[in-house]
Amino acid sequence: IMHRKRYCVANWKMNFNGSDIQMFLSEWNNKSLNNPNIKTIFCPSFTELNITAKLLNQSNSKIGAQNVSNFSKGAFTGEVSASLIVDSGCSHVIIGHSERRQYFGETNQSVNRKTKSALNAGLIPIICVGEMLEDREAGKTEQVVKDHLVNSIAKLTEEQILNSVIAYEPVWAIGTGKTATPDQAQEVHALIRSVLSDTYSSANVADRIRIQYGGSVTPANAVALLSQPDVDGALVGGASLEAEPFADIVKAAQP
Ligand code: PEP
Repeated sequence: IMHRKRYCVANWKMNFNGSDIQMFLSEWNNKSLNNPNIKTIFCPSFTELNITAKLLNQSNSKIGAQNVSNFSKGAFTGEVSASLIVDSGCSHVIIGHSERRQYFGETNQSVNRKTKSALNAGLIPIICVGEMLEDREAGKTEQVVKDHLVNSIAKLTEEQILNSVIAYEPVWAIGTGKTATPDQAQEVHALIRSVLSDTYSSANVADRIRIQYGGSVTPANAVALLSQPDVDGALVGGASLEAEPFADIVKAAQP
């Protein structure tokens, strides 16, 4: 049986300053959840990456940014490149989150360019895809997710896709308290795996890629979602803002 290491990602969005992070992590570190089978990744704002790296020094948790420039260096005022993100202690970066697609004009094309920039600098991209409520209600979930996926990963080599993570985040489930049912999540995760197996000739790819579910994950629904065969972890917003519920989600992810 294929064993994919699970990921639990805390997307702190634009919420935590340095002292919030210090408080969160001092509580977190007391829980000593260093299970080698689960990767925990904290994603603060750019300005707090360095302090987060310092505070996580002794732990095997990882750090991710929430966005990245598609440019690698130079006269791009206000942008943050992938190599600067690496320099701040990150191993991962969330790309194409639905909030960036909705409010900041992110498209599949920009997601694709940013994904390549991240990979070129040695960052692992967490590539977000997912339908809006009106897409689901119109029966277009499959079409939209396929379109997001195929275009976001366009022209990635097999080696590059194997260094990437996909996150399925139905937009209607993000921050709404409405979660996809375990069956709904599994259905789309299986679709994503089948698109990957159509796109890459090596069966290895579809089997090995981690696919996260995101959208109102809580300690109460995490076990049911994470026990689906194609769900390899959770991308968590609201429930990652306190150490206790996030720790409970990480515990639920233990194989
Ligand atoms: C997210 O923003 O990635 C997310 C899943 O948020 P929430 O858990 O709050 O729905």
